[in-house]
Amino acid sequence: MDVDELELRTHVRPPDWRNPTPREPYHLLIIGAGPAGLVAARGAAALGARVALIERSAIGGDCLNYGCVPSKTLIRSARLYADMRNAENFGVRAPHDIEVDFAMAMQRMRRIRARISRLDSAARLVAEGIDVFFGTGRFTSGDSVDVDGIQMRFKKAMIATGSRPALPNIPGLTEAGYLTNETVFDLNVLPKSLLVIGGGPLGCELAQAFSRFGSRVVIVHDEPLFLPKEERDAAQMVSNALARDGVEVHLNTRVVSVRIEDGNKIVETLNDGNAATITVDHILTGIGRAPAVDGLGLTAAGVAFDAQTGIQVDDFLRTSNPRIFAAGDVCLEHKFTDTADASARIVVRNALFMGRARMSKLVIPWCTYTDPEIAHVGMYVKQARERGIPVKSFTVPMHSVDRAIADGEEEGFVKIHVREGTDKILGATIVARHAGDMINGMTLAMVAGIGLSTVARTIHTYPTQAEAIKKAADAYMRTRLTPWIARLSRWWIRR
Ligand SMILES: Cc1cc2nc3c(=O)[nH]c(=O)nc-3n(C[C@H](O)[C@H](O)[C@H](O)COP(=O)(O)OP(=O)(O)OC[C@H]3O[C@@H](n4cnc5c(N)ncnc54)[C@H](O)[C@@H]3O)c2cc1C
Repeated sequence: MDVDELELRTHVRPPDWRNPTPREPYHLLIIGAGPAGLVAARGAAALGARVALIERSAIGGDCLNYGCVPSKTLIRSARLYADMRNAENFGVRAPHDIEVDFAMAMQRMRRIRARISRLDSAARLVAEGIDVFFGTGRFTSGDSVDVDGIQMRFKKAMIATGSRPALPNIPGLTEAGYLTNETVFDLNVLPKSLLVIGGGPLGCELAQAFSRFGSRVVIVHDEPLFLPKEERDAAQMVSNALARDGVEVHLNTRVVSVRIEDGNKIVETLNDGNAATITVDHILTGIGRAPAVDGLGLTAAGVAFDAQTGIQVDDFLRTSNPRIFAAGDVCLEHKFTDTADASARIVVRNALFMGRARMSKLVIPWCTYTDPEIAHVGMYVKQARERGIPVKSFTVPMHSVDRAIADGEEEGFVKIHVREGTDKILGATIVARHAGDMINGMTLAMVAGIGLSTVARTIHTYPTQAEAIKKAADAYMRTRLTPWIARLSRWWIRR
C-alpha cells in the first residue's frame, strides 16, 4: 500500500478504529456514510441532534472511493494527453513521442483522492460531534439497529446505503472475470484492450478516457444511441466524440457470451442478428446501478422496498415506517452525488423539524463528463409534449461563440426550452467542453423563476463559452419583435 492509499485509509476507514459506546436513543441514526449520509450527519449534528453514522466499508461511499472523484481525476489526465497530441493545432510543437504513464496517472488519482478524503475523515466527523460506527448496519425492529453486535435505538433513522454495480447476466462473464467501478480504479497497468459493456455515463466516460490513454477500446451498447435519456442530437455528439477518439462503437449490440482462450477474453456479440467476435484482455461492465437493500433487515423495520427501484419513499422521503427516511441512490431515480446531497437536506428538515420539504420541488441538473460534456436540467422536449406543454427551443451552436472558437472547443450547442409564448424556462441541454459548469446558470434561473428575457438582460462576461446561453436568450428576444412592434418601431424612428 503506497503512502496515498495509507492516508486514504486513515481517513475513511482507520485501521485502529474503536466504535464508541452508543448514546442512545439517537435523534438521527444513519446507515451509510456516502454523500447522502455525510450531509445528513453533519447537518443534523450542527443543529444539535445526537447522530450515529454507520459505515460498513469506507466513508465517502462510491463518490470518493470508486466513483466521481477517481473517474474525474483520471478523465483530467486523459484530456491532457488528448490536448497534447493536438498541440500543433494551437501552435505548440510537442514531441511526437508523448508518453502516457498510466501508473503515474493512477498515482495522481490516488494522491488527489487521499487529499479530498481529509475533508470527510472519521476524526473530523467525530470532532463535529457525530458518533461514527464502522460495521454493517441492520434493523432489528422499527426503532433499533444492530451494528456487528452493538445494539442501538433511534427516534429517527435515515437509510443511505447507496447502490452497487448492476451485473449483466452473460454466460461465461463471471468465469472470465470483469472490472466494475469498484475495481477499475485499482488498475496500475493500462489494459491493451478493453471492452466496455454499457453506454451510460460511466461507460462513455471511461471508454473515452481509456482510449485516450492508448488502450484499444470497444464499447457495446444494446440501444441505437448512448445515454438513452439525453436528446438525440446530444447523444449523437457523444457517439461521434468517442469514435473520433478511437473508440470502436458497437450500437444496437448485445454481448451474448464470454469465454477465455489463451488468456484472452473472447466475447460473442449480436447486432441485428449478425454475430461477431471481439477479443480483449479486460472487460468493464457499466450497465447501471442496483440499490443496496440486501441484509438491511428492512422487513423487521417495516420498510417497503423493491430490489430494482430500492427503498420506497413518498415525496417527503419517508418510508413506510414513519420513523425511517431514505436518501440518495438507494431510493432515487437520479443517482448523482448532488441529488444525494439535496435529498439528505430534505430528510434532516422533515425528520427532525417536522418539515414538509418535497423531493418533487427540486430542480435537478446532471452532467456526463465526456469530452465534450453533456449536461441537462429540467424537461426534455419529449417530456414537455407528453405533458401537453407547448414548447419552443432556442439553439446556439458552440461554433458561433467567439470563446469556443478561440479555445478550439467548437463542438456542441446550447439548447434552451421555454413554454411557447412565454419566457418560462422549462429545461436546457448543453453540449460543450465545460457544459457541467455552464448548466449551473440555467439551474439557478429555473430555481429562482428567472425567465429567458432576464437572462438576455444579464451581462455575460466576454469572451466566455457561457455567452452561448446569452445568445440563446437573445434569440428568444428576437421572437418578441412581432410585425406590429417592428412597424411601430420603424414609424417612431422615421417620424
Ligand atoms: C464511476 C462513477 C462515476 C460517478 N460520477 C459521478 C459524477 O461525476 N457526478 C455525480 O453527481 N455522481 C456521480 N456518480 C454517482 C455518485 O457516486 C452516487 O450518486 C453517490 O455516491 C450516491 O451517494 P449515496 O450516499 O446515496 O450512496 P453511496 O455513495 O453508494 O454510499 C453508500 C454507503 O453506504 C454504505 N453501506 C451500504 N450498506 C451498508 C450497511 N448495511 N451498513 C453500513 N453501511 C452500508 C456503503 O459502504 C457506502 O459507503 C458516479 C458513480 C460512479 C459509479
